[in-house]
Amino acid sequence: MASHMSRVDINLGSLRKNCRLLRKIIGNADMLAVIKSDAYGHGMVPVAKCLAEEGVQAFGVAEVHEGVLLRQSDIAGDIIVFLGADKNSMSDVIRCGLELVVFGTEQLQEISSIACGLDSRVGVHLKIDSGMGRLGISPDDAPDFVKSLEQLKGVYLAGIMSHFPQADDPHAQITEKQYDLFIQTLEKIGRGSSLSSVSHIANSAAILRFPQMHCDMVRPGISLYGCYPFVSSLDAIAQEFESVMTYTTHVIQVKDVPAGFAVSYGGTYITERPSRLAVLPVGYNNGYLRSLSNRAQVLVRGKRAPQRGRVCMNLTIIDVTDIEGVSVGDEVVLMGGQGENQITADEIAGWMNTINYEVLCLLGNNNKRFYNS
Ligand SMILES: *Cc1c(COP(=O)(O)O)cnc(C)c1O
Repeated sequence: MASHMSRVDINLGSLRKNCRLLRKIIGNADMLAVIKSDAYGHGMVPVAKCLAEEGVQAFGVAEVHEGVLLRQSDIAGDIIVFLGADKNSMSDVIRCGLELVVFGTEQLQEISSIACGLDSRVGVHLKIDSGMGRLGISPDDAPDFVKSLEQLKGVYLAGIMSHFPQADDPHAQITEKQYDLFIQTLEKIGRGSSLSSVSHIANSAAILRFPQMHCDMVRPGISLYGCYPFVSSLDAIAQEFESVMTYTTHVIQVKDVPAGFAVSYGGTYITERPSRLAVLPVGYNNGYLRSLSNRAQVLVRGKRAPQRGRVCMNLTIIDVTDIEGVSVGDEVVLMGGQGENQITADEIAGWMNTINYEVLCLLGNNNKRFYNS
């Protein structure tokens, strides 16, 4: 147990397995592993090292400082910074050989002039907003943008990319339309230039659901970590992904209380019968959010126990009346498997009223992580 009462375990063996599965699914396309937000809570550097050993040669991060840390950790290969760079971090971009996503003319000119000043060149990926309604330039502006890019020194077009907002939704029509628009835009750009850049648009949902949309390179995030971007998949291969993260703690107090006993702040739960409660050293400071109050379940002695009363900053209470012999020191699984039972990130996401991505970031980035191979 050492000095941490609860722990996140990261199973790198499962990460490797998921990476190999994705390889099979993507065939000849390249893989850009998305490791932003500390690899969705799994730890960016150990995840990148593991994936590099698996042959992954491109990594996606949000900000320049993440790319700098990857280089300091001896990660080679392409590192693509999704949010671009501000002036002050351009020297890091050049020193570390990072590639930048671009989405504006002024931004492009700034990169060009700083890179020229340092006698260098920066690879850029043009982001096209094909229907995400977020970052990127309009498809109509893309051909001219590329023409002006080709006139500039200090920059070269490493990629052209876009992003899907609804590839997880089997009823959405937009994904096919977006893809067609992206391909048409690539063709228009290609007509006027000597295009040798890579095209990429597919996130995990599109990788799994739309094999025809993989383009030159795919950008998996959530699937690497063993979760699905959609509720369930009928695709047999997709069932084989293994969740990489588990979250466990242990019981620090057990107590027998009468019926009518008020549990935790606000007395939001009152026992209906004489009950046995167990107290856990976990709370919203650990990313186990207060919205889980009176909703979540955990595993102890291989059985499901309901959470009771408000989740506090560092404590939460569970009802173990129906589970024989629970004692101080017993392992409690908040996310992951124990015995025959399993609590998934999706289930917690349902209780928290969010998506599995947020659960992984919250638990992974707010607890001490331990790595198993
Ligand atoms: C986060 C992100 C991804 C990964 O999406 P998943 O749904 O986790 O596979 C891909 N592309 C971009 C631009 C992203 O920001």
